[in-house]
Amino acid sequence: MFDAVIVGAGFAGIGAAIQLKRLGIENFVILDREDDLGGTWYVNHYPGLAVDVPTTTYSYFFEPNPNWSRLFSTGTEIKQYADDVADKYDVRRHIRLSTVVEGARWDEETSQWQVSLADGEVLSTRYLITATGFLSQPKIPDIPGIDSFAGRIIHTTDWQDDYDPAGKRIAVIGTGATAVQLIPELAKKAADLTVYQRTPIWVVPKIDLRFGPLAKKLFARVPATQRVLRWFTDSVYEVMVSIGVVHYKTCRGRGNISAADLSKLHRFITIRDKELRRRLTPDYDFGCKRPTFSNSYYRAFTRDNVHLQDVGIDHVQTDGIVGKDGAKNEIDTLVLATGFDLWEANFPAIEVIGRDGRNLGKWWRETRFQAYQGVSMPYFPNYLSLASPYAFLGLNFFNTMEYQMRLMERLFGEVKRRGATTFEVTEEANTRYLDRMTELLGDSLFTLGNCASARSYYYNPAGEPTLLRPTTTETAIREASEFPLSDYAIN
Ligand code: NAP
Repeated sequence: MFDAVIVGAGFAGIGAAIQLKRLGIENFVILDREDDLGGTWYVNHYPGLAVDVPTTTYSYFFEPNPNWSRLFSTGTEIKQYADDVADKYDVRRHIRLSTVVEGARWDEETSQWQVSLADGEVLSTRYLITATGFLSQPKIPDIPGIDSFAGRIIHTTDWQDDYDPAGKRIAVIGTGATAVQLIPELAKKAADLTVYQRTPIWVVPKIDLRFGPLAKKLFARVPATQRVLRWFTDSVYEVMVSIGVVHYKTCRGRGNISAADLSKLHRFITIRDKELRRRLTPDYDFGCKRPTFSNSYYRAFTRDNVHLQDVGIDHVQTDGIVGKDGAKNEIDTLVLATGFDLWEANFPAIEVIGRDGRNLGKWWRETRFQAYQGVSMPYFPNYLSLASPYAFLGLNFFNTMEYQMRLMERLFGEVKRRGATTFEVTEEANTRYLDRMTELLGDSLFTLGNCASARSYYYNPAGEPTLLRPTTTETAIREASEFPLSDYAIN
């Protein structure tokens, strides 16, 4: 019997493990379906992969990394950071890789979770923590004929490192954050690259800079210098989310308009063809779906070998794609930059059955998507779901992790202090929290902005924007450290 089972060995799972260790809990296991740790930073290794949040900000609060080579580091460096943190905090020995979790069921008799693995094994644990991420189930588009394509099909989460785009005729479906990074790289080598765009994306310039040996030495010797830089990058991102999303009503969308103007200027400077600029211009407000940062995306479309197709896809044939206009584009490779299935496959990522047989996925869909402080649900004792509705704090995942670790500290610490065995959020606290999130969202971009045509994954299939927590990081951290302990029944 374990004290805790964590599902997922990405940054959330590693953070949860570090917090358990701080609480003196060592008898836990982290399960991950992949054959290495790092979550999304292990799975994704397509050309051009980099973080689009400054790495000074994109790291644990308690573990600054003086070794970043630049402000927006590459995927390889971030994977290395995950490895280094796991080693430094002695997390690796708790991880069981290549282990697929099917589901978990609360056993009232023993007050334990029974965690079922795909190979038939069942693990018993006192606490269950799912750290399965938001973007972990690849979405394969349901396009007629796609299965008949005889060339190579690559989803960006399954990049084939032996694949050489040189001289190939390539189609990329999708223009999200992944495609924005990948397209300029493929454009450099492909004989012909067609980008199938359904919804244009807002792109603003990326103000990147290299950290030379002197800067790295300074960060290592005087950590306060990196802290100051972090404070600055944190503040910029925080202000962006605050003005553009959370306080949209108060700011009357001015921040969004300014950001859209910056993107417009970026397009104007990069692309001379007016009609092409128009086709790349979104018709929804900046921020309705995650905006992207790139200095090379728009420029890629000015190359002779790159074409934008935005009339839609009718069907795929063995050797190409037929557009809605009837024109056929013969290709060798079909790249699916089609993102992730969030709401159907990921909420929750495994089947979770709580007290009285309550099925979490069914309950969310029959009522509303909800989670107290983005982690707890009534009828699910001793369970924290780190990738929940209202959990994600805007642009930077590590802010989310910081408040969730503080919540763990307060909650698990109290359970230990009382010598209790179970905790469960009360119905009243959960409803109060849901009402508050709903009210706050009423003033946000997602309710008041022009987001209808954005096709944003921030919205669930019922059209409610239940992914992001509409508060500042400071508020989330304060609440996680100070929430009334009476919000949980601790027995
Ligand atoms: P995404 O933002 O969901 O984009 C998927 C793209 O595929 C969209 O353009 C979508 O069009 C298109 N698509 C999906 N199904 C389609 C279909 N049947 N026909 C035509 N087009 C279709 O996914 P993503 O680009 O992988 O990015 C997901 C998230 O990952 C980002 O928002 C970001 O949070 C994160 N990310 C972060 C970084 C980083 O640097 N930190 C890098 C990459 C990704 P529609 O918009 O019309 O649906």
